[in-house]
Amino acid sequence: MSSLMQLRVFQCHECGHKMRLSGDHCGRCHAIKPAYQGLIYRLALLSPVLVIGVVGIVVLSLV
Ligand SMILES: [Zn+2]
Repeated sequence: MSSLMQLRVFQCHECGHKMRLSGDHCGRCHAIKPAYQGLIYRLALLSPVLVIGVVGIVVLSLV
């Protein structure tokens, strides 16, 4: 999970710096990330919780 957070998938719209998935600001010029990038980060954080929840529901429905 921590390695996922270190992925530099976004480029800063201000200076072109490769930004990490985590954090709300560019590491170089401190421009605020576009909102959708923060949303993707939050979805990535939540996805294990969602998977566990879905698996739990499936297991409960089979019992
Ligand atoms: Zn920047």
